[in-house]
Amino acid sequence: MIIDQIGEVGEGIYMLGHPAVPIFLVDGDRPALFDAGLALLGPEYARQIRQVLIDRQPAWCFLTHSHFDHCGALGYLKDQFPKMKVVCSSKAVAVFDRPNAVALIADLNRFASGMASDFGVDPGQTSFTLFNIDVTASEGDCFNISSDQTVQVMETPGHTWDFLSYYIDHNKVLVASEALGTPDETGYIVTDCLVDYDVHLQSMQRLNTLDVETLCLGHICALTGSHAARHMVDSISQSRRFRHMVEQLLDQEKGDIQSVMKQIKAYEWDGKTGLRQPEPAYLLNLKARIKTVHRKWEKRRHDAT
Ligand SMILES: [Zn+2]
Repeated sequence: MIIDQIGEVGEGIYMLGHPAVPIFLVDGDRPALFDAGLALLGPEYARQIRQVLIDRQPAWCFLTHSHFDHCGALGYLKDQFPKMKVVCSSKAVAVFDRPNAVALIADLNRFASGMASDFGVDPGQTSFTLFNIDVTASEGDCFNISSDQTVQVMETPGHTWDFLSYYIDHNKVLVASEALGTPDETGYIVTDCLVDYDVHLQSMQRLNTLDVETLCLGHICALTGSHAARHMVDSISQSRRFRHMVEQLLDQEKGDIQSVMKQIKAYEWDGKTGLRQPEPAYLLNLKARIKTVHRKWEKRRHDAT
């Protein structure tokens, strides 16, 4: 099933906030949040968390990566749920230690507050605030949600270097976020490989070996059953298609990244209806996505001469 509405997406598994920028909650003795979305949606996340947990608090918030739309409301949620422990990779900690990176996270959250009416919330009611990280996690670490639910940490770089995916074997839940592609409403999948093409592909191939019943993506929807399995395969195919498209455009434009950017933006962003990623964030990502292919393209040309 493709689930693009907020609510329970599997037994005790909830997609909260807004499907465009969701956070996930897995209930148990020690309830776990996955990611912390946009600052703008902080009060909405908290309200919906309380609808599920009533007077209990999340015990954990597992961050997949340090992007502005995955950690934006974390400061707010920590204030609301002070018992919650924040978990992320040591590489994400290093990002949060850099003042320039934090300023960019705050800026992009401020820009996104212009989308308040799209999300049906009041603009400017919360802004990004910094938070403390309680636990750094790495490959193979395990955290208990309940006696039979354990969160396993998988290092799956490629979208970013600091990326962690989380797998709960008991109910076959995979929080892959943007380690896998993000579909838009037409079904087109954006594979957001920002740092290294081969590393990203390897991470997707590794995730594709898991037995997954509920797949929690970074944006737009959660997928269950055969849709989850198909999305993992489709993300891998789309990654190869994107690489091919960029390589052809680089040939055509003689390596001019700006020209290639313009053409891909026209193809996958300009004509898109509905809720879109904020333009500055899209452009930052698009340039990085093209550069990961450009590096391979240049190397191939260099090797051929
Ligand atoms: Zn991201």
